[in-house]
Parts: sequence; C-alpha cells; structure tokens
Amino acid sequence: MRRELRWTLDKPIRQFLCAFLDLLFPERCLICNKGPVDSQGICEYCLSSIKYISSPACSKCGIPFNSDAGEDHLCGICLTSKVHFSKARAVGFFEGVLQEAIHQFKYNRKTILAKPLGDFMVNCNRDSIDFKAYDFLVPVPLHPRRLRERGFNQALSLAKRIAKRCGVPVDYLSLKRVRWEKPQINLSRKERERNVRGAFAFYDRGKLSKNRVLLIDDVCTSGATVNECARVLMEAGTRRVDVLTLCRAL
Ligand SMILES: [Zn+2]
Ligand SMILES: [Zn+2]
Repeated sequence: MRRELRWTLDKPIRQFLCAFLDLLFPERCLICNKGPVDSQGICEYCLSSIKYISSPACSKCGIPFNSDAGEDHLCGICLTSKVHFSKARAVGFFEGVLQEAIHQFKYNRKTILAKPLGDFMVNCNRDSIDFKAYDFLVPVPLHPRRLRERGFNQALSLAKRIAKRCGVPVDYLSLKRVRWEKPQINLSRKERERNVRGAFAFYDRGKLSKNRVLLIDDVCTSGATVNECARVLMEAGTRRVDVLTLCRAL
C-alpha cells in the first residue's frame, strides 16, 4: 500500500501517511507474507534464502554443474545440439523462495513483484551480461489465450523493469506466440523441443534485423522455449540473441 501511495500523493502527506501506516500495520513481505521488509517489500529471510546459480556452469546455456570445482565449460547438450542463442543466464534455482516468488507473481497476480524480481535479474548479472550491449529486450510472448487467462505477461513485466534500470527499449510486438501448445510439465527435453517447434513467429522484419536482442523470461527449464524463440529471431536476421531468466529449473 505504501508503494501505491508513492505515485498518488504529495511528498509530505505521503511521508506522514506512510509513517502512520507503518505504526498500525507493519508491511509484510511480498513473497512470504511475513516481515519486516526492505524498501522493495522483501524480508531479510527471503533475501538470504535465495539459492543463486554460481560457477562452474555451462558457458553457453548457464546450467550449473554438480561439482563445485573447475572452470565454466560447455555442457553435453550445448556440445551436441543446435543452440540458437549465444548465452543464457539466470539468477537462481527454481525452488524455495524464488519458486514461491514466481507463484505469487504469476498465479496470485502480485504484479508489483516485477520490480524486485527485475532488479534481481539486473543486479545479479552485471558481471555476466553487458546490458548496454543490447538494442532490444524481447520478452518471451504468451499465446493470446494464455494472456487472456492470466491478464498479463510476466516476462513483459520483468522486461519493462529491466528496461527501466538499463535504458534498453522493450520490443514485445515483433515476436508472437502463434500456436497453442500443451503444458510442458512432465515432458522430456526432446518432447519439449518438439512441443514448441513452430510455436513462435516473427512479424516486423525491419525492426530487429541486425540488432542484438536479450530475451527475457521468468523460468528456463530445458531451454527449449527460449531456444525456439532464438531460432525464429536469428532466422529473421537478428545479429545475436542472449537469454536472461529469473530462475533455472533443473
Ligand atoms: Zn519473506
Ligand atoms: Zn549448456
């Protein structure tokens, strides 16, 4: 509630009301519904419980290796199959706090979470991603039917926040999801690849041509969806496609 007041009231009135509200109702964490929270609405417990992805990991798709020792190198999948993006990175594992955050964000429609989650995606990847090197951020599109069901595209909400932080424009019109595919849960990697084949189409050939694109999504599981998006973008003449997701599911 304090965050909404920020946009609607003059500063002195807002400060007074916020202090008053803090006394009466200490703000609760957007993820676990406990408190106290930081300025983004996340509690200390949630912040300290995120399981971040770290090296050693695949230098291309970003999948972390089981061993703690050694350097980053290509994983078996990237060595043997056609990967259309140049690199993919994620903040953390799709479990615990981040899984709950995505649940609250997508299914309980706490769209305000786009701000702290988008900020995680920027802050945690400053070393691995040069945000200024991209011409466009492209959110992985939802099928219009899914968009109607959910009411918003979580990838677009994250991309808008990242755009605000990095000054890179969002293009959410060129890439469309044109085929309704069955849910990917419980499908193998090969089945996911088949499932998403032909699911996306590229519309504005002039816009992204020869540009560098950072694809944005909330979760990457097998990488089949982002790889298919990257394939379509590269075929349309995009110079380079990288991928940034909040979570990596294994
Ligand atoms: Zn919390
Ligand atoms: Zn890989």
